[in-house]
Amino acid sequence: SPENPILSVSSVEAVYNGAIAALHGVDLSVGKGEIIALLGSNGAGKTTLLRAVSNLLPAERGTVTAGRITFDGEDVSRASPSQLVRSGLVQVLEGRHCFRSLTVEENLLTGALGRSSSRTGVKADLDRVYSLFPRLAEKRRTRSGLTSGGEQQMTAIGRGLMSRPKLFVLDEPSMGLAPLIVDEIFSALKRLNRDEGLSILVAEQNSAVALKYADRATVLENGVSVLEALADDLRQRADIKTYYLGGS
Ligand code: ATP
Repeated sequence: SPENPILSVSSVEAVYNGAIAALHGVDLSVGKGEIIALLGSNGAGKTTLLRAVSNLLPAERGTVTAGRITFDGEDVSRASPSQLVRSGLVQVLEGRHCFRSLTVEENLLTGALGRSSSRTGVKADLDRVYSLFPRLAEKRRTRSGLTSGGEQQMTAIGRGLMSRPKLFVLDEPSMGLAPLIVDEIFSALKRLNRDEGLSILVAEQNSAVALKYADRATVLENGVSVLEALADDLRQRADIKTYYLGGS
């Protein structure tokens, strides 16, 4: 594990509605400049863990009941989700949330709303998103509801980038998208990681694509982290892949 992680999750347990146990002991860390894949089948607890990291569980009547989560050395349990965004912990939720009646550019600009400083930098940040996803530049004046699923996911990611993440957290960005689009999205994330050192935590059921781009991976099974390994090692170990990830 990294020495000075930007995110550290240790022995975390969580429940919904005070009763339904969803996490029973999760350990995970993201080093500065790393891409970490959070893998596991449907219902393993990936979304619950990501909600816990952004302190979004209370909104789902969920609670972290044990363990500790720190971002940049600080305990996250005291910070609101919006404070966490302002301090650089930015999450793109599952299901590519865009405002369908707003244009692509208006959606992107909503990502800059929480910023304390003036408008300076907003134009540069928009240009950065457009150079990362040229399709969005072409559709900047199109309502998001009229763009493709891939373009909506790119818009959701671009909106997150407008909040200037230090740790970018993504929940299942490949969901429902064609393989070519998924690769386009992951290679854009990889470029941000390589060129700017952006730290990334990405939950994926699509382990093949996540392992292709990640440095390390943590596997969740029934709310427990059961394996942590280098992505290269996991990719090459067919036996482990079959056992933990259904051979996908
Ligand atoms: P998916 O890929 O479907 O999102 P996941 O690995 O992210 O799967 P979670 O969504 O975190 O898994 O679900 C973990 C467990 O918590 C499951 O048993 C699920 O039914 C339960 N759960 C998730 N959200 C809620 C909720 N809002 N209220 C009650 N139980 C929930």
